[in-house]
Amino acid sequence: QVVNYAPFTLLPSTVPRVLFEQAYAVQQDFNLLVDAISQNKEFLEKTLASTIKVDDFTARLFRIYTQVLEEGLAQTVFLGINRSDYMFDCGLDGTAALRQIEINTIAASFGGLTSRTADVHRLVLKVLGKTEEASRLLPNNPAKGLASGIAKAWELYGSQRAVVMFLVEDVQRNIFDQRCVENELWNRNIRVVRKRFRDVFEQGSLDASRRLFIAEQTFCVFFFSHGVVAPLLPQNWEARLLLERSRAVKCPDIATQLAGTKKVQQELSRPGTLEKLLPGHPEAIARIRATFAGLYSLDEGEEGDRIAATAIADPDRFVLKPQREGGGNNLYGEELREVLEKIKDSPERTSYILMDKIKPQPALNYLLRAHSPLQMSECISELGIFGVYVRQGQELVLNQAAGHLLRTKAIEHADGGVAAGVAVLDTPYLV
Ligand code: ADP
Ligand code: MG
Repeated sequence: QVVNYAPFTLLPSTVPRVLFEQAYAVQQDFNLLVDAISQNKEFLEKTLASTIKVDDFTARLFRIYTQVLEEGLAQTVFLGINRSDYMFDCGLDGTAALRQIEINTIAASFGGLTSRTADVHRLVLKVLGKTEEASRLLPNNPAKGLASGIAKAWELYGSQRAVVMFLVEDVQRNIFDQRCVENELWNRNIRVVRKRFRDVFEQGSLDASRRLFIAEQTFCVFFFSHGVVAPLLPQNWEARLLLERSRAVKCPDIATQLAGTKKVQQELSRPGTLEKLLPGHPEAIARIRATFAGLYSLDEGEEGDRIAATAIADPDRFVLKPQREGGGNNLYGEELREVLEKIKDSPERTSYILMDKIKPQPALNYLLRAHSPLQMSECISELGIFGVYVRQGQELVLNQAAGHLLRTKAIEHADGGVAAGVAVLDTPYLV
């Protein structure tokens, strides 16, 4: 095994305090919203109808979703772990505004590693003689927050023998991030195992009450640290179906995964949609809406034609996003223009959404990465807030923000996160 340190900035980056607090204040609202979407079949069906015609990955997820609903859900405890990501859009007058990039409802990573980054930056500041500044860095422990959600779900599942499983990739590059969360569970005397899709496929079975067994062990909670990137092997889809049919708590279940698609995000920005999804929560709706950037549907029809033409004429205003997760898939500038030009009259267009491009104010920092030369770069940051909630039947028994993540990258990279080798871990220094 070859082990590298996780990449990080030499210095913490400044973040406007009001925007940081705004991001925390809206997290419980986003938890509520994701949970509501995951229970709204009609909304998911309608919103994803155009996407599943052209996007095979989403279509397969959707097929499992409907199949499991037809059989009837065995799962009664629901656990959501998400991360809402933001950038700070710099207006013409120089003031910054909080703008949501996306909400990740599956495999929201770096909660573990980032529980350590504040310590690193505190030390660096002390070495530089900045003791006062060092003392101002906030404590941050998403590993603990996420583990408390998993532990709650485990407890409600109600079997001391049941085991928590982390579903991992064959080659796992981010194992230490997951270990931080895992260790928090062991500290609470909850057993954790790591398995791959293949193990579930080869050894998994359900009993009459749809409890899940893998190699004799019963499982209660599945934490997907994988399952995002298409295409999956046919046997992985089989395994996913088995998991979804089971009584075990999936984090996320397939409905919650669908709630995190970019198409759903775009639909949420339509006037009236939030009101339908969260009736009786006008304040939550206002807080949520205040973070939205402009989002546009490329569905067939006049509305889609118009925005496609606008983007072709002025590509630097927009980002073109396919229904993919994991970084490195979005299109910008000339490339956006070329692709949109090519697909503008074909149904393929509907597998994308358009979004206003957020333009943050860059700042100087050093990005430290194994085997990379050390140089000062102009950087921009993306703030993520972790959210965790647990629902039993219809009752929300836990709903909280569970810590934050700051990722920073050089401005020459339009796209890409830490896993894609572009962004590095950072700590907010509130100003
Ligand atoms: P993914 O699912 O691949 O993570 P994101 O929507 O998070 O997709 O986009 C990946 C990256 O692209 C983000 O981390 C951000 O750096 C950049 N990005 C995404 N949307 C925008 C936007 N509207 N404006 C500017 N940059 C964006
Ligand atoms: Mg992202």
